[in-house]
Amino acid sequence: MIYEKAPAKINLTLDVLHKREDGYHEVEMVMTTIDLADRLAFEMIHDDRVEIASENRFVPNDKRNLAFQAATIMKEKYHIKKGVRIHLNKNIPVAAGLAGGSSDAAATIRGINRLFELKLSQNELLEVAAQIGSDVPFCVIGGTALAKGRGEQLKPLPSPPSCWIVLAKPDVGISTKDVYGQVKLDHIKHPNTSSVIEALENQDFLKMCANLSNVLEPITTNMHSKVEQIKSKMINANATGVLMSGSGPTVFSLVLKQAKAERIYNSLRGFCSEVYMVRMLG
Ligand code: ATP
Repeated sequence: MIYEKAPAKINLTLDVLHKREDGYHEVEMVMTTIDLADRLAFEMIHDDRVEIASENRFVPNDKRNLAFQAATIMKEKYHIKKGVRIHLNKNIPVAAGLAGGSSDAAATIRGINRLFELKLSQNELLEVAAQIGSDVPFCVIGGTALAKGRGEQLKPLPSPPSCWIVLAKPDVGISTKDVYGQVKLDHIKHPNTSSVIEALENQDFLKMCANLSNVLEPITTNMHSKVEQIKSKMINANATGVLMSGSGPTVFSLVLKQAKAERIYNSLRGFCSEVYMVRMLG
């Protein structure tokens, strides 16, 4: 059995630059991994098929599952005759803006590379990742990175200063496609991405927090007012930085002190069913 951790990501910035000819949006985002992870185990089976074993009722166990898709592509591309059973233990909330499914797909690419001793290079792993989804290449390398293009052009960045993260997910479903569909390019207030990069380079926690920005936040907030309510609660509890991640609806806050993180965590429990307090991994 081979084990892989699949950490969630948060966006420190998310910008949409323009719409491309292929219909995708050209994005620019700073992403970082956090210590909230799904756990996957990979087992070789003799039947030539892919099986997902998961107890989470919100996660499909067929070809709709991104881990299933990753395993199928790996098997075909590298002519793997044996099958694989993927035990998927979900801890990352589903459809949350935290790239849970993408991270499971990335962990599957890494896991199959190890299980079948394919000895693939990072570039080969990234090539498979880009076929599955925009966030999957970042999840293959993890850490902290600037992502451009559809999300597949990656430049590693220094990890953020060590801090606590409190995350709260309102109980609403978000379709990433719908949110991107409502982006109005003329009305965007673009993030100051280079300031966030400078803050990472200088390990400047306050500057990083002051420049957190996500162009999708007003769109999702417009659809679900609870996003704004969570932000207000976090700000009232003295969070240093607050932002919605990805297309949402999860909102996170960053603080240096554990006691403050606990206060924010307690102020949100009861208001949201899914609240987490974790460390930055970066
Ligand atoms: P992103 O931030 O990349 O947009 P997300 O965190 O918002 O992703 P996911 O948790 O990846 O969203 O789930 C989005 C959809 O993908 C869900 O509706 C779910 O049914 C489907 N899905 C496919 N594979 C998985 C998986 N392994 N884990 C969770 N959801 C999955």
